Amino acid sequence: MSKKVVIIGGGIIGLCSAYYLQKEGHQVTVIDKSDFTSGASHVNAGYITPGHLISLAHPGIINQGIKWMFNPASPFYVKPRLDPEFLKWTWAFKKSANAKKVESSVRVIRDINLLTRDLYEDLKASNEFDFHYERKGLLMAYQTDKAGEGEWKVGQRAIKEGLSAENLSKEEVQKMEPNANLNIKGAIFYDCDAHTSPSDFMQQMLSHLKGLGVEVLANEEVIDVEILNKRITKVITDKREITSDEVVLAAGSWSPLVSKKTGLNLLIQAGKGYRINVARELGITMPTILMEAKVAVTPMSGFTRFAGTMEIGGINHDINPVRVNAIAKASEKFYSGLEITEQEKNDAQCGLRPCSPDGLPFIGKSSKCDNLTVALVMQ
Ligand SMILES: Cc1cc2nc3c(=O)[nH]c(=O)nc-3n(C[C@H](O)[C@H](O)[C@H](O)COP(=O)(O)OP(=O)(O)OC[C@H]3O[C@@H](n4cnc5c(N)ncnc54)[C@H](O)[C@@H]3O)c2cc1C
Repeated sequence: MSKKVVIIGGGIIGLCSAYYLQKEGHQVTVIDKSDFTSGASHVNAGYITPGHLISLAHPGIINQGIKWMFNPASPFYVKPRLDPEFLKWTWAFKKSANAKKVESSVRVIRDINLLTRDLYEDLKASNEFDFHYERKGLLMAYQTDKAGEGEWKVGQRAIKEGLSAENLSKEEVQKMEPNANLNIKGAIFYDCDAHTSPSDFMQQMLSHLKGLGVEVLANEEVIDVEILNKRITKVITDKREITSDEVVLAAGSWSPLVSKKTGLNLLIQAGKGYRINVARELGITMPTILMEAKVAVTPMSGFTRFAGTMEIGGINHDINPVRVNAIAKASEKFYSGLEITEQEKNDAQCGLRPCSPDGLPFIGKSSKCDNLTVALVMQ
């Protein structure tokens, strides 16, 4: 039976939910408070990574995080705040950062990423889209033996989980990436991974949805919901009231602010990351994580992207030039001869990742409203 579905949030999760719901014959409305051109779904590194099996909350991260708190250029930063939601999240993050929890998450992370990759490949194979997507794997490049040994343990775990991983020497990497001069000791190669150009995908999905008749409301903020008998009957924006049979909450880092209106508490913090685009030929053809710097490098359609930093510091889009500079400097250390210009750094943008304490997604029906589905995926 066709239902009227309202999706709150038009990032990648909201738009893809709209696509599949519309295909099933529902009447879909997507509401976004922005203009569909910025935010996490546009600035990310574009990786689809079944090989990334270990969540951010893992043994050792707390001590590392404390050390990094005093380094303004560090890739991971938690800003201490006396906000009860932040304190609850931090406590839950600390409790999740243990080997048992990491172990129990490995297959969930693998499976959701494999499913994601399959869905991208279905979309790419259909004649509906022509976005950039490549499946050529991902290099985890390291400069120190310690980082290499640590990542090879993850690689071996990936092999145990049916994925493939290889421990490559510097020379083997150089053969794979002959025109970029990587200053590394070696790399772990995950050939199960893929990459895409996020803005390309988002633009195509948005115009495709409009063509299919999905109602798309830009620059409109959901400020409340009307609830009757444990069901959301109306979604209230700053411009109108919209009746709904079903509601999907896909508001990324803002989701807790909306879910609160229904009495649902979602333990999510925003994890800010930055991207620098370089639209010059750099000879980089392989998606590569610069391990010690925690920078993700992606050859996208028409430019190379350098993305990094995880700043848990509340909801804001302030750009910290020290961290942007740190991404550029670290990249220059890994690629001999690379120079990122002041202009490229000045054009950096940021986005907010929705982060759960244990790195696992929140997907499913809400306990508070029978017709509310939460759709929040972390990476
Ligand atoms: C630098 C960086 C690199 C990353 N790299 C990767 C990667 O390589 N691979 C990967 O899988 N992930 C990566 N991520 C994470 C990924 O980008 C996010 O997980 C993903 O974009 C989240 O999508 P979303 O749709 O849930 O949220 P968002 O993209 O944040 O979209 C949520 C939308 O909801 C809207 N909204 C919020 N509140 C309201 C409201 N009240 N009313 C109306 N609209 C509202 C917002 O305007 C926003 O557009 C990266 C993130 C960053 C920042």
